[in-house]
Amino acid sequence: MRNAFYFLFLALFGFSTPSVMAACSFDIEVGDYLKFSTASMSAEKSCGTITVNMTHTGKLPAKIMGHNWVLSNTADVQAVSMEGMRAGLVASYVPAGDDRVLAVSNVIGGGETTTLEFSTSSLSVGSDYTFFCSFPGHSYSMRGKFIVN
Ligand code: ZN
Repeated sequence: MRNAFYFLFLALFGFSTPSVMAACSFDIEVGDYLKFSTASMSAEKSCGTITVNMTHTGKLPAKIMGHNWVLSNTADVQAVSMEGMRAGLVASYVPAGDDRVLAVSNVIGGGETTTLEFSTSSLSVGSDYTFFCSFPGHSYSMRGKFIVN
């Protein structure tokens, strides 16, 4: 059923994947590799709520090749990743109750999908944000710019 939806999605929206998306809702893909399907995301503060739908099209389980979607100020990415590694999978690889984590999704494995919704109220237009995967070792290549307009 999931595959059917995926092909329906391709049929409806074509095969072009813009590198920069400007929207309030994002559909991104990850797989059994260290890369998001987009390198840059552009949202409007006026969205109020931003939705990120992430699908893992791979086969490996979350404990081996898990991915999540975390938003932080770019300056905080390394520290959040390091501390998140110690927090472990049960904590979605982010430090609990940490203000530097502006948004975080569940960690998903192959064949799974997760949806994250977060408010734009704490985001500032023009600030330097980065989205990344905080699974141990992934943040160096699994990251991209998050722009707020
Ligand atoms: Zn990852």
